[in-house]
Amino acid sequence: MKFTQLFSKTQKTVSAETESINAQLLTRAGFIYQELAGAYAFLPLGWKVIQNIEGIVREEMDKIATELHLTSLSPKERWQATNRHDSVDVLMSTKAANEIALQKSTAEYILNPTHEDIITPIAKQYVHSYKDLPFATYQIQTKFRNEARAKSGLLRGREFIMKDLYSFHTSEENLKDFYEIAKERYIAIYEKLGLGNDTFITLASGGDFTTEYSHEFQTLLESGEDTIYLDRKNKIAYNKEVATPEDAKKLGVDFSQLEQVKASEVGNIFPLGTKYSQLLDYYFTDKDNNRDLVWMGSYGIGISRLMGVIAEKYHDERGLVWPEAVAPFKYHIIALPDESNITAGQKIYSELGENNCLFDDRADTHPGEKFADADLIGIPTQIVISKKTLENDSVEIIDRSIGKKQLVKLASLKKSL
Ligand code: ATP
Ligand code: MG
Repeated sequence: MKFTQLFSKTQKTVSAETESINAQLLTRAGFIYQELAGAYAFLPLGWKVIQNIEGIVREEMDKIATELHLTSLSPKERWQATNRHDSVDVLMSTKAANEIALQKSTAEYILNPTHEDIITPIAKQYVHSYKDLPFATYQIQTKFRNEARAKSGLLRGREFIMKDLYSFHTSEENLKDFYEIAKERYIAIYEKLGLGNDTFITLASGGDFTTEYSHEFQTLLESGEDTIYLDRKNKIAYNKEVATPEDAKKLGVDFSQLEQVKASEVGNIFPLGTKYSQLLDYYFTDKDNNRDLVWMGSYGIGISRLMGVIAEKYHDERGLVWPEAVAPFKYHIIALPDESNITAGQKIYSELGENNCLFDDRADTHPGEKFADADLIGIPTQIVISKKTLENDSVEIIDRSIGKKQLVKLASLKKSL
């Protein structure tokens, strides 16, 4: 992408209401735009990061489930059927303005905060036999929750992107087997995102009657909203909101040895058991023609929250420092103003692949401004072209994270990257 085609601009300051580090940096760097408290547009650079995160999540989820896309709107009856219309405190609903204007009786629509209540009736329509079970399906979609504390930028949105997967089984055993497989895929995802060392499977409340706990994936983060008790060596953690020293004992953990640390919940998996199948009368027929309740699990990942967490973890005083796996581009080509520099930059841009590069082709922007923008945007490798480097048939390569600079001959540029 060429800088001159990038309509978003960097900015030196943000409004005083922008409290969180992730929203400050991502707004200044032109990755996101706040539409209202807790709802952000992803501008071209930000959307690239979201797509990279989604790509990693898809790669792993496609191994265990098929992708679909459910609706964001649902009739309120769906939520009444599971008794959640009045109990989910963050539920957002809407009525059609044109129907109100005509004084017609208006239907109430829910902006879905999650999709257990939506997917179960769909599964019930198609799958009734043990022969069609187990199956699992997932989507990556926008969710709506009227969160009270929408002050943490992408960490807590009122409109946010989630990956949600639902699994359906003939027995508790079968659900448990799948649950463990899903856990492994989750671990692989956080590793690929560069968060592997800092993300811990954490026991939390919310399990059904058959399992005492659900499992959260918590990434250590000073600005995270959760507090967890952590045994770092043995990779055991539990959420402070839930667990007591007695729980620690049950897990064979010495409470006094646990660290208390701040973290952000980047994923959550629940064994739902037969909660929804009971509420919605969802049965299957087994081998002997008996009717049994379907067993279910639900598995979420906070896609947009992850972008916020990565921004909070990977930055310095000059700006963002993206890990390569999610960076909007691999290379930031900085051609200092001068026609010959821009021409040389254009050549490198084509050679390295336009999809891999952000090319600062601005002809009349001060070098200092170009460097400051590149540091703020945080692409991993900067390639600087100046009169001086060209005199040596070279470019300067700068590693954004450690600041290491290196002069490299144009002829061997591709090899040395
Ligand atoms: P939290 O405890 O943070 O409120 P939750 O337990 O209600 O989240 P789930 O319903 O399990 O969240 O959603 C799955 C994942 O979606 C969470 O693990 C989290 O990463 C993400 N998520 C949940 N709520 C939000 C939000 N308001 N903004 C951004 N991401 C969210
Ligand atoms: Mg949770």
